Amino acid sequence: MRVAVVGSGPAGGYAANALLQHRNVEVDVYDRSHAPHGLIRYGVAPDHQETKRIADVFPFARARLHLGVEVGKHSSHDELLEFHHAVIYATGAEVDNRLNIPGEGLPGSHSAREFVAWYNGDPEHAGREFDLSTERAVIIGNGNVALDVARILTTDPEQLASTDIADPALAALRASRIREVVVLGRRGVDHAAYSTAEFLALVDRADIDVVVDADELASPGRAGQPDAAGQDSPLARLRLDIVREAAARKPTGADRRIIFRYLASPVEILGDGRVTGVRIVRNEVSVDGDGVARARPAGVYGTIDAGLVLGSVGYRGSAIAGLPFDDGTGVMPNVAGRIVDPRTHDEIPGAYAAGWIKRGARGVIGSNKVCANETVESLLADYLTGRLETPSPPSPTFCVRPAKG
Ligand code: FAD
Repeated sequence: MRVAVVGSGPAGGYAANALLQHRNVEVDVYDRSHAPHGLIRYGVAPDHQETKRIADVFPFARARLHLGVEVGKHSSHDELLEFHHAVIYATGAEVDNRLNIPGEGLPGSHSAREFVAWYNGDPEHAGREFDLSTERAVIIGNGNVALDVARILTTDPEQLASTDIADPALAALRASRIREVVVLGRRGVDHAAYSTAEFLALVDRADIDVVVDADELASPGRAGQPDAAGQDSPLARLRLDIVREAAARKPTGADRRIIFRYLASPVEILGDGRVTGVRIVRNEVSVDGDGVARARPAGVYGTIDAGLVLGSVGYRGSAIAGLPFDDGTGVMPNVAGRIVDPRTHDEIPGAYAAGWIKRGARGVIGSNKVCANETVESLLADYLTGRLETPSPPSPTFCVRPAKG
């Protein structure tokens, strides 16, 4: 059996691994990037080198790796299917969710992912410039990426020099005047998306002050009530304890600090020609009938002065021509990895999805293993029950047009 895997990030890597456990399976991996490993290479922060080593388990040496090939542009789904029994799409979620507030397009306002791709040396973001000449930056969002960016902006650059951080980013950080990073979360600490371990690692740093305003830990709308979304788990309580402890600490006077603000949403990015600050509104949180906690403006406004604003409010996938795509959720509609027509629920023969394009931009690298394994199980079951068409024999002349550059 021959399978094409589109995307060489964690989902593509784990899918190739699961396929190559079987004898007589050949795998072609395609990636639009000129280097493999997706967000492991261009997303994971440079001071997390052990995490980047996860990519060592991907079996690309035993697969045929085609880099610089964008499926949907240089090659189509039908072309891949002509020479493979099946195609697994593991194309991730590469589109940033927008803040949709006035001022978002001002110079000095960027997505956190652009900043991450720049410090990780992604060639698509080489030559980018981020203004680090003011004292304060604001990060909008409360996930692990927001914490990564806050940490990189406040770490002594000499500690990053031994990592694989891109040289231009290191040079810019050495010249940076940023001393304070404000991380804004629209809901309370109990709904923050970052992991407790990442927060704890920050609080434990002797070189950075982590500041939390105790007043913002109590949500006016929730009055400490647990909700049906399971936020009152022991882990959530542990996190609340850790954040409360951080709120009770006195700043040590460290040269750099990270300020966590909860229950606050940006309503406008301020500036005339370039960013000068963010106008925020205080929120209250209430839990609706579905058990989902929603933030609503409570009518109290304020302003944070800043020269750099980075939005970190999630990602969505993008469509591949000729295949179904759910615009609402930003994923390829699927059942256990089999891509389906969302109206009829009919399976699209030979088309599968894994990773963030299958289930949305949630979860750490390891979550993609279970996800990719499920997809490969569906694919193997379809092969064994004769539901996959036999493709043309591999042709030495079959070649996709390589991307320029
Ligand atoms: P991706 O890793 O995005 O891989 C998708 C691949 O598909 C890319 O290589 C892309 O070039 C390719 N591709 C896209 N479209 C096409 C196309 N049309 N044709 C060919 N190729 C295509 N998790 C952790 O556990 N630890 C961390 O430290 C961590 N840091 C993160 C930092 C950031 C900034 C982000 C956004 C996420 C981070 N995560 C981390 C989460 C983790 O990266 C994801 O769970 C994981 O990368 C999702 O895997 P994926 O394979 O679905 O997508």
